[in-house]
Amino acid sequence: MATSVGFIGVGNMGNPMAGNVLKAFPLTVFDKNPNAMSNLIAAGAQKAGSHQEVLERAEIVMTCLPASPDVEALYLDAGGLVERAKPGTILIDLSSVLPSTPRKIEPRAKQRGVHFLEAPVSGGVSGAKAATLAVMVGGDAAVLERARPVLRAIGPNIFSVGPVGAGNTVKAINNMMACVNSLAMMEGLVLGRRAGLDPMTIYEVVKASSGGSKALERIPTAIVPRNFAPGFKVALMNKDLETFNTIAKELHVPVSFSNVAQRYQQAAMAAGLADQDTSVALTIIEKLAALE
Ligand code: NAD
Repeated sequence: MATSVGFIGVGNMGNPMAGNVLKAFPLTVFDKNPNAMSNLIAAGAQKAGSHQEVLERAEIVMTCLPASPDVEALYLDAGGLVERAKPGTILIDLSSVLPSTPRKIEPRAKQRGVHFLEAPVSGGVSGAKAATLAVMVGGDAAVLERARPVLRAIGPNIFSVGPVGAGNTVKAINNMMACVNSLAMMEGLVLGRRAGLDPMTIYEVVKASSGGSKALERIPTAIVPRNFAPGFKVALMNKDLETFNTIAKELHVPVSFSNVAQRYQQAAMAAGLADQDTSVALTIIEKLAALE
């Protein structure tokens, strides 16, 4: 019989991931926002009324929540996932959190005979829909082998990167690089527009040149159409840069670019744009350049 899977937190990222798991496994879903689950129920997922109900029905339970406080509350509070999971259950957190969060969860889960992996993902909502995500797994490699077929449903690139905490460290490194690339693209674009260049000309030329990156693809999809619907919210990118800076402080590694990148997320949040896509940082750079 196919492994029964549970999925808790089916927002922008969790929803398409759960949709792909459902194509291969019997799936139970729970989100504290009932509207977030409706398309999955319509597609054949079972609806749960609580996280406890998910635990009753699933051998492997995946979670995809906003940030460390949400994850620590769901896993570690009285009546939470760690306390209520049946021994032998595999819990997998796909959220991007501080490395200290999975390091708190794993020993508590172990005491109860429950397995825990961290598995933050990258590839955005489009990668989640296409099941092409990169999955950065920290934790016991033998447990990963048992969970691999389920993770394979969300992406082909599954990396075993070390003990718990290592997955969220590499995830924070990735997101810092992605954000800095993206802001550099936006600053170049704003300067180009002040100089009278067409944004699509900049796109075509840089794509064929040495300044190209994945960030460039946002020019036709988000920047030119000014589509700032999330996607990946400013508040979540701010959290990931905070994670990068926290790790840097703990290790006494002096870092620069992440601080600059976080300042733009802070400016966007101060302007009331926390729930818009990170591409909305363009409007902050435009204001600095007095560009209409
Ligand atoms: P989101 O805010 O769209 O979704 C989070 C969902 O979790 C919401 O539907 C919310 O109702 C639900 N939730 C929160 N607490 C809950 C609880 N205790 N029980 C049940 N449901 C609960 O956020 P998102 O964009 O889906 O991001 C989720 C995580 O994935 C974040 O850590 C984010 O950094 C990471 N991530 C996002 C992207 C992206 O492109 N959006 C890409 C990679 C990683």
